[in-house]
Amino acid sequence: MPGATIGVLGSGQLGRMFAIAARRMGYRVHTFSPDQDTPTGQVADLEVTASYDDLDAVREFASHVDVVTFEFENVPAATAEAVEHCAPVRPSGEVLHITQHRLREKTWLAKHGFPVTPFRAISDRDDLEGFPTPAILKTAGFGYDGKGQYRMQSAGHFDPAWRSMNRQEAVAEQLVDFECELSVVAARASDGAVVCYAPSRNAHHQGILDVSMAPFPNREAVQITHAVLDQLGVIGVLCVEFFLTKEGKLLVNELAPRPHNSGHLTIDSCVTSQFEQQLRAVCGLPLGSTEMVRPAAMANLLGDLWNDAEPLWTQALRRPEVKLHLYGKLEPRLGRKMGHLTATGPTPEAADQQVREARHALRI
Ligand code: AMP
Repeated sequence: MPGATIGVLGSGQLGRMFAIAARRMGYRVHTFSPDQDTPTGQVADLEVTASYDDLDAVREFASHVDVVTFEFENVPAATAEAVEHCAPVRPSGEVLHITQHRLREKTWLAKHGFPVTPFRAISDRDDLEGFPTPAILKTAGFGYDGKGQYRMQSAGHFDPAWRSMNRQEAVAEQLVDFECELSVVAARASDGAVVCYAPSRNAHHQGILDVSMAPFPNREAVQITHAVLDQLGVIGVLCVEFFLTKEGKLLVNELAPRPHNSGHLTIDSCVTSQFEQQLRAVCGLPLGSTEMVRPAAMANLLGDLWNDAEPLWTQALRRPEVKLHLYGKLEPRLGRKMGHLTATGPTPEAADQQVREARHALRI
C-alpha cells in the first residue's frame, strides 16, 4: 500500500519514469545499479551503487524494501535469486530467465504455439550451414536496441557473422520483409487480470526505436499479447514486439518484461500510464484503465541530437501539444537515449507529423 518502499533493479529512464509514478502515489523508491547520479537515482529516495554480482549488497538492498521490480532485464539470474530470498520479485525470476535470453524466449514462444520468425540455435559456425539468407545472427543473451546483431545477405557472410559473436551462443533468424513493426504493452495483476494498451506502430532507425504512434488497431496482436501474459503468468508489465508481414501475418519478434519505449506515449495520452500500471501490478493494486484519451506519437531524442550544442527546447515546446521528457543523463553519447518528445493530436498521423516536426525544430 502507499507508504511502502519499492526496490528497482536498474537505474535508467524506465526506472526514472516508474519512480515518478510511484512517488506521485505516495510510495518510496530505492534503486540499485553499478552507477551513480543515475536517471532513476535522481528521483528515488535512495540510490545504492554496487555491482549486480555483489550478492551481499543485493541482499542488504532487498532487505530494506517491501517488493522488488526491475527496469533492466539483463540482471544476472543469481542476483534475482538472491533478491527472492529477501523480498517478492515481480515479475518473477523465472519470467526474467526466459525473456533475457533470445533462444529460450523463442523456444518458449514456439512451444506454446505463438507465431515467431523462423530461427535456428547457433553454437558453432557449422550450425549456420544451409540456413536460408538473407538472415540476421543475434547473440542469445544481453542484446538490445539492435546490439550484437549481424545481417547476413548471403552464405558468404556466415564467417564474419559468426566471428562477430565472439564464440557466444547465438540465434539465426530469417530476415522478415515486413510491412511494419508494432507492439502491444500489457499488464497482468496478481489476481490474473490482464489489461492491454492500444497497439503502437513503431519505426526504427539503425536498430533503435525512433518514432511510435498509437493507436494502430490490430485485434489479433492484442489477443496474442493477452495470451502471452496469461501463459507466462507474469505479474507486472510486459511488451510484445511484432512484425506485420506484407501478407498480413503477425510474427512475435521479442518480449520485454517491463515498460517499453513504445509505451512512453501512454504517460501523456492514456488514463493510466504504463509506469503507473507497473506500480499497480507489482504492488497488488487493481489495474487502471488503459483507455487512450487522445491519439499520440513519441519521438526518441538520442545523444546524436546534441552535436556539441544543447537542443533548442523552446522551439519544440512552442507547439502546445508537445511534451518534453528528459532523463537526466549528463553525457549525450551517440545512440544514447537522452529523452523523448510526445505529441497528442486529433489522429495518430497528425500526432506523428507534429512530433517529427518538433524534433526537427530542436536543431534549427
Ligand atoms: P531486436 O533487437 O531483435 O528487436 O532488433 C532490432 C530491430 O532490428 C527490430 O526492431 C527490427 O527493425 C530489426 N530486426 C530484427 N530482427 C529482424 C528480422 N528477423 N527481420 C527483419 N528485421 C529485423
